[in-house]
Amino acid sequence: MGYTPMIQQYLHIKSQYQDAILFFRLGDFYEMFFEDALTASAILEIALTARDGGIEKVPMCGIPYHAYEGYVAKLLAHGYKVAICEQVEDPAVAKGIVRREVIRVITPGTVMDEKVLLDKANNYLGALVSEHGSWGLAYIDISTGEFCVTQCGHREVSVLDELIRLKPAELIVPDTLKDDGCVPEILKQVKCYINWRPMLQKSLGQVLEVLETELRVGEDLAAQLYKWPLACQAAYYVLDFLQETQKQKLGHLTELKVYKPKNYMLIDAATRRNLELTENMQTKSVRASLLGVLDETVTAMGARKLKHWLETPLLDKNLIQQRLDAVEELVENALLRESLRKAIKGIYDLERLVGRVAYGSANARDLLALKQSIARLPQIAGLIDWVHSAYLRLLINDLDLLEDLFTLLDNGIADDPPAGVREGNIIKDGFNQEVDRLREAARHGKQWIAELEAKERERTGIRSLKVGFNKVFGYYLEVTKPNLHMVPQDYHRKQTLANAERFITAELKEMENLILGAEEKLNKLEYEIFNELRAQVEKNAGRLQTSANIVAELDVLLSLALVAIANNYCKPELVDSSKLELIEARHPVVEKLSAGRFVANDCHLEPPASILNIITGPNMAGKSTYIRMAALITVMAQIGSFVPARKAVVGIADRIFARVGASDDLSTGRSTFMVEMNEVANILNHATERSLVILDEVGRGTSTFDGISIAWAVSEYLLTRVKARTLFATHYHELTLLQEEFPAARNFSMAVKEEGNKITFLRKVIPGAADRSYGIHVAELAGVPKEVLDRANNLLAALEERKQDVRQTVREVAAAAAQKAGAAGSSHLPGLPEMQHFLGRLCKLDLDGTSPIEAWHLLSSFAREAGELLGKLSGGNHDQDPDS
Ligand code: ADP
Repeated sequence: MGYTPMIQQYLHIKSQYQDAILFFRLGDFYEMFFEDALTASAILEIALTARDGGIEKVPMCGIPYHAYEGYVAKLLAHGYKVAICEQVEDPAVAKGIVRREVIRVITPGTVMDEKVLLDKANNYLGALVSEHGSWGLAYIDISTGEFCVTQCGHREVSVLDELIRLKPAELIVPDTLKDDGCVPEILKQVKCYINWRPMLQKSLGQVLEVLETELRVGEDLAAQLYKWPLACQAAYYVLDFLQETQKQKLGHLTELKVYKPKNYMLIDAATRRNLELTENMQTKSVRASLLGVLDETVTAMGARKLKHWLETPLLDKNLIQQRLDAVEELVENALLRESLRKAIKGIYDLERLVGRVAYGSANARDLLALKQSIARLPQIAGLIDWVHSAYLRLLINDLDLLEDLFTLLDNGIADDPPAGVREGNIIKDGFNQEVDRLREAARHGKQWIAELEAKERERTGIRSLKVGFNKVFGYYLEVTKPNLHMVPQDYHRKQTLANAERFITAELKEMENLILGAEEKLNKLEYEIFNELRAQVEKNAGRLQTSANIVAELDVLLSLALVAIANNYCKPELVDSSKLELIEARHPVVEKLSAGRFVANDCHLEPPASILNIITGPNMAGKSTYIRMAALITVMAQIGSFVPARKAVVGIADRIFARVGASDDLSTGRSTFMVEMNEVANILNHATERSLVILDEVGRGTSTFDGISIAWAVSEYLLTRVKARTLFATHYHELTLLQEEFPAARNFSMAVKEEGNKITFLRKVIPGAADRSYGIHVAELAGVPKEVLDRANNLLAALEERKQDVRQTVREVAAAAAQKAGAAGSSHLPGLPEMQHFLGRLCKLDLDGTSPIEAWHLLSSFAREAGELLGKLSGGNHDQDPDS
């Protein structure tokens, strides 16, 4: 004896989905058995029961099929995947056990459920491929159809930064990378569901062929992909995984977009967190972040687009200028602004609606929502004659009004359809003759029955005779016991109740068959027609997505205009230099929270004349707020937003670095100081003359002398080597001496008003260094005992006396170091200029525009030159082995 046939079937299916919890459909329930039942009952807090499995009792738990989504969400949140196994034949006609199959597997990256997805954020499934330090990344949001790939050299852009930007819900990684030196470290920091997959066994040609057939890849794109084998592999992993889990073709995956992270302002993971662009560092909420301030969008698509813009500020001055001009026009033209907002406001989430259509989960109400959204597009298009800015004109001109789809849906879908798609009432009268005929038949039958009661009462003389309907017996005529003697011959008894009997007649039965038959046919036919309509919409997914994207961009531009007006922002002036000039500027988020009491400040940096501003002043005086403000304003300007200032001149920054009070990163086992130094190293190694650097304390995590030395050396390096615009807030007053050595360094401090024992922070940035820290004063405010305060004051006075010595030492050491560096720089190293020239050429290589054969020639010439150079550098010793 073995397991029952059903359990055998279960075990067979489960063996193919061992890594997922299997939802096994049994009637109106999804049941889980064995290990799955133990796991799921605990997580879902549902009763664990048992079922006779033949040779043993099998642990079991179950959930009602119609409410499965909430349970799936909970299991996903606990890191499980769920395989949905359905009955795939009608139990009524099945011989033996009903056939069952897994129809899809739900994973964190492939959720379509509205209850799990956030309206205002994307849900990405990514795939990462890495080889010799280069990496390829593909990511998809299957709820909207967005699908992008990129490939980068390891020195160009860090894959970790890109992953932190995207925050994928799930990342596919070939399991060969488990032993890679860096990848597991990176994945640890990404903190998403990692899906290890077997290594791909396909050639680039095979992969490309699949991509091109699945996605209609254009010629230029194919050419790019040809040079990006890792990107192609990553895209393939994604498609392959979708096929395996979704088991259907998704018509809204129309386009594969190729992008280069280098084309956007690079913002590393730490800076992204520190600047609180899209979420607050502490609360993780959007509200107290820059996104929270800028988001006045009225559609979910717009909200997602704004988030995307904020995550990828632009570098191309023309593109930014176009956005700024569009925002300006909307700021200035109130009528245009209001009309556009009115038109956009009622538009539903077209992207996700199209996703549900492609997915087969859209119901008639979704199609109605699509129709209602499309109906608003002409209002937008009608504004074209009022619009002047190039970008707004471009967007509105490109808007596809989708009139054909509108007509189809308007004619086809009823005005108030039910949520279910198999119960009829979803197709409009007049759309399909057969539907109309069946409806008429059913209607006629019902009318006949409605008239039957009066007719029979008259014929039989039974005044209380009633016509009724129930699901088991169908239509009947009901006669109470006292009147039974009056029942005519042609009534056939059907059912006996306590005080009445129910009858049918041949005529009534016939009419019943007609009505029920018509309704059944009607429901089936309506469902078929609905599916055809859905297919029609799916065929137009690409067009819908184009219009959705335009609506999203318009929504973002409108939002930026509204926020600019509400908060009195100005249009920034973009310049080609790396100047940053802010007059009466405010921190966009802190300003919102400080209810009109925010103190505006100026900021001026203009390399090479002025590179580094050192800002000193007591705790809580407003230093961090000030330096972050400069970074946030730069980001805002580069997404095309107006900025909180009276005047702003912004030289486009290629990167922004923000090192702000680090916290221990316990999950990766790095101490505060180590994290801080990692961030500093990252800045010094990657900042360029076009970057903006903000430093909030450097070197505080170690001893004072260590700290000052590091901070000083870092400043020097930024001033003389990197030459990046830098704002440095610090407590090390010694650093204010930098100004004496370097004309490009300036001292500023936070103004403080002292009145007797009371100090007030004026929040004003003024030229010159701070002379005191007021630390003891703060300690007093905080309630530190008087005895301790007195002692601290004593010590401070003593130390102040010796401070001049320390300052003198720093001055001398710095001067000596500078002299030494100068001397080393001028000493003649044979071959150095050639070396610089050689490296310069290497850096400027445009590999994307180089064919394989050209690359080979280049490489061989470089190898030759490198050999010659090596000879020169080693002092003409030509015997040196170039391999060593
Ligand atoms: P610091 O870095 O000097 O310790 P912060 O920048 O953290 O000081 O500022 C402390 C608090 O002061 C902030 O939380 C903010 O509420 C307030 N603040 C800072 N700058 C301003 C300003 N310019 N106007 C008004 N309030 C400010």
